[in-house]
Amino acid sequence: MDISTTANPAPVDDARLAEILANPGFGTHFTDHMVTIEWTPERGWHDARVTPYGPLTLDPATAVLHYAQETFEGMKAYRHEDGSVHLFRPEENAKRMVRSSRRLAFPELPVEDFVAAVEALVEADERWVPTNTDGGEKSLYLRPFMFASEAFLGVRPAQHVTFMVIASPAGAYFKGGIKPVTLWLTEDYTRAGRGGMGAAKTGGNYASSLVAQQEATANGCDQVVFLDGAEGKYVEELGGMNMYYVFDDGRIVTPQTGTILEGITRASIIELAGKLGHQVEERKLSIDEWRDGVASGAITEIFACGTAAVVTPVGSLKWDGGEAPAPASTELTMRIRQALVDVQFGRADDTFGWMHRV
Ligand code: PMP
Repeated sequence: MDISTTANPAPVDDARLAEILANPGFGTHFTDHMVTIEWTPERGWHDARVTPYGPLTLDPATAVLHYAQETFEGMKAYRHEDGSVHLFRPEENAKRMVRSSRRLAFPELPVEDFVAAVEALVEADERWVPTNTDGGEKSLYLRPFMFASEAFLGVRPAQHVTFMVIASPAGAYFKGGIKPVTLWLTEDYTRAGRGGMGAAKTGGNYASSLVAQQEATANGCDQVVFLDGAEGKYVEELGGMNMYYVFDDGRIVTPQTGTILEGITRASIIELAGKLGHQVEERKLSIDEWRDGVASGAITEIFACGTAAVVTPVGSLKWDGGEAPAPASTELTMRIRQALVDVQFGRADDTFGWMHRV
């Protein structure tokens, strides 16, 4: 696919960029360019272009505003010490977007076109990828997304679809040291049901998680943990992270229920932990097993993982009327975290071939 480029005639100046990159926060500053690719049944994917970043003009009848036919991805570009810039397993994000697209009745954007689009934006906005000479963990967050751009109020798959990529510099998720996240177990809300959209990365899942996250915050917790929709018994995931349990005999368990969003970080940890000599099980894990396991000491560590925080230890779990304490250790959690971060920032050998140089 050919991608045309129109350079931004008024890019953010160097002094302002330095100021932003010194303290990027998350999701508030956007780079100088964006990628757009259009799709229609007649022409397929066409008109791929890098253009100056700017607002969209949408007809009020644009289908995504009414029926939420939308999918997105989240990934990062990392600058290594030698100045080179690398993506982490971008093909996996591309493949997940294809799976999400199937669930949302979208056309499929080929993996190589997805990766080329992301690369084109990183190349155009290379100066926005932060350096980490201080050993930090800043990166350029990339947000590919696809939406129903046809102006039509009938309920059917859109006949005009737009794929875009935007980028935003991201600071270290943890400022002032890593500390365990406290979790709220919601018993009122679920994020996915059988046959629903839980395994797809689509905006509606996040819209439905907001009220549960509000409940978590109101109860003094950092994040919400969801149980399965059918029985309300098995742990699924957090609003934006997958979960892992470390057992005292070295086994590691990560929930698999068919309705979770399977993270690229989660998949990478399955491989990494295997190499570290741990047996990894993907299976259902009930909330009782969690509570009993922490109480008996059979579960020694719990952690959550995702692109934003990489790996974060899980502390105590609260629910309406009770609380389970934090597991005893964070030793393996921190070892896995360091191993992943070192590969991403080029501080360790990429033995799995995960990094993709731009
Ligand atoms: N679950 C949910 C619901 C998420 O939004 C995310 C973030 N994409 C994850 C898990 C973790 O996925 P990844 O490791 O690919 O970031």
